[in-house]
Amino acid sequence: MGMMDKTQLYPLRFEPIYQYRLWGGRRLASLLSAPLPGDGPIGEAWVLSDRTDYQSLVANGPLKGQTLGEVMAQFPEQLMGKLSSRFRRFPLLLKFLDAHEMLSVQVHPGDDPSELIPAGDTAKTEAWVVIEAEKGSQIYAGLRSGTTAGILRESLDDGTIADHLVGITPKPGDAVFIPGGTVHTLGDDVVVFEVQQNSDTTFRLYDWGHIDPVTDEPRPLQTDQAFACIEFGASDSGLVAPLVETTTPVKRERLFDCHAFLLWRVLGQEPFTVGAKAEPRVLVGIEGSGQIMHDGIPYAFGKGDVWLLPAEAGECVFQPRGEIALLEIAIP
Ligand SMILES: [Zn+2]
Repeated sequence: MGMMDKTQLYPLRFEPIYQYRLWGGRRLASLLSAPLPGDGPIGEAWVLSDRTDYQSLVANGPLKGQTLGEVMAQFPEQLMGKLSSRFRRFPLLLKFLDAHEMLSVQVHPGDDPSELIPAGDTAKTEAWVVIEAEKGSQIYAGLRSGTTAGILRESLDDGTIADHLVGITPKPGDAVFIPGGTVHTLGDDVVVFEVQQNSDTTFRLYDWGHIDPVTDEPRPLQTDQAFACIEFGASDSGLVAPLVETTTPVKRERLFDCHAFLLWRVLGQEPFTVGAKAEPRVLVGIEGSGQIMHDGIPYAFGKGDVWLLPAEAGECVFQPRGEIALLEIAIP
């Protein structure tokens, strides 16, 4: 055994990767501690990413500066526990989105038809937890019943697509589920946390006539691929009712439970347990602060923080400093 094999993993915090998007804003500055670059619109902060083009970097401890991919490769069992044989790269991609304008109306592939999923990528089911919303903010998730492919195609030509989508007026705390194959978009000043399968495959159906000021061109659409992915039948997409699992010592609600991820929201001020034996967990700070206790060492946890608890850390005690709201994410 080399020295590195004996390295004990510890709770890992990651630096956000900011992404220019023409529909973005500057609101992520108040959510995340790392300063926003430049003064242009920032639409996305990728807060946990094991993708070849964008790798999250560890921000704390002896592994500081290493990529998530490097940690996955060096410590598969310590990091992933009982899941280590199933995943060579971390299976979830986590982001905060600041949608100042409307995003394109889009769809991600489900598992079918598989030929639309690029080699090495996966289907993409995703879900949003609303962090901030304004009066005019809008989310669209899914087609209204009775919307056929023919009706949808016509609506692209006459610009009436919104009439055929299920609209949600978002408010902070709302949970929205978007399985692969769901037509969706959001915007007009809404900030969400997004959990999704580790995939970057998006097919744009409609872009509201937006011109990208960087290229001076409309962004390309992928209408045929989008139509091939859209689920026209009944779907469980849309607003989710939280399921309260426990109320003491803190309130723990399950928001999402699908084949790709489980996500709970924890609210309260008493110490509680985070993490799980032999599996990794991710914690995301929504409001308030506190500390994760691991091996007698406190790890300071704040709003906007994203921490990966390695499988070998098992269960840890979280000590809130006053009221805290955090998300805990598991891989089924
Ligand atoms: Zn999406």
